[in-house]
Amino acid sequence: MKYNEISHFSHPQHKLKFEYSEIPFNCDGCKEVGIGSRYKCATCDFDLHMHCAIPTPSIFHPFYTKCSFQFLSRPPGDSPRFCNACEKDITGFVYHCKSCGFDLHPCCAKLPMVLDDGEVKLYLYRKVSSSCHRCGRQGRSWSYRSKCKEYNLHVACVKEMLVETWHEFLGSHGNKSNSNRKLEMTRIPSLKNTLQNHHRRSKGKVKKCCEMAGLAVQFVISAVLGDPTTLIAGVIGNFMSRA
Ligand SMILES: [Zn+2]
Ligand SMILES: [Zn+2]
Ligand SMILES: [Zn+2]
Ligand SMILES: [Zn+2]
Ligand SMILES: [Zn+2]
Repeated sequence: MKYNEISHFSHPQHKLKFEYSEIPFNCDGCKEVGIGSRYKCATCDFDLHMHCAIPTPSIFHPFYTKCSFQFLSRPPGDSPRFCNACEKDITGFVYHCKSCGFDLHPCCAKLPMVLDDGEVKLYLYRKVSSSCHRCGRQGRSWSYRSKCKEYNLHVACVKEMLVETWHEFLGSHGNKSNSNRKLEMTRIPSLKNTLQNHHRRSKGKVKKCCEMAGLAVQFVISAVLGDPTTLIAGVIGNFMSRA
């Protein structure tokens, strides 16, 4: 559900407008990075993820069947809290289960159980026993896994890549208007096209689904950033593949 303009309790002085951004932004609600759909106050440079702008008062999650998560504008108590999905600190908006003390970032709570590009399917798991494509470790945070079960990627590892990339990206693209132009120029057409080309090249042979899943990493990244429909711009994508 999208509205063009909303009022939000965290920014009562102005209305927030719906906008689509291919440039990453910092969400002023959950304090995490975002991309794609956002609600913005142009006057104050105040941004919210869609999930943070239009939260659900309470949610259930399939991984924690006994839990009821309440939306809170700040983490409860004084001790540091971390997200059960991505292991990162929680410093802003959060879904919290009072009886177990579990916490989820709003965007982590709303991560799709299946990322489906029509050709590649990645499934969200609470724990996988095989090692992560990036860090080589098992267990740890939630993971996306390919159907063949050979490709695994921790949600935590995607977030770590993002933090590194974000700093590097800001370092090399200090000027905002400049970076806008550069991003537009190097923007990849779409993940879908990438995959289709991949298919065409390997005609006659059935590509292993884990190899294809490797190409879908950008898909996971945009989901973690709060909007799985976003196609990550080329510049950022390149940083990612180097990471
Ligand atoms: Zn947010
Ligand atoms: Zn404002
Ligand atoms: Zn609980
Ligand atoms: Zn999280
Ligand atoms: Zn990992």
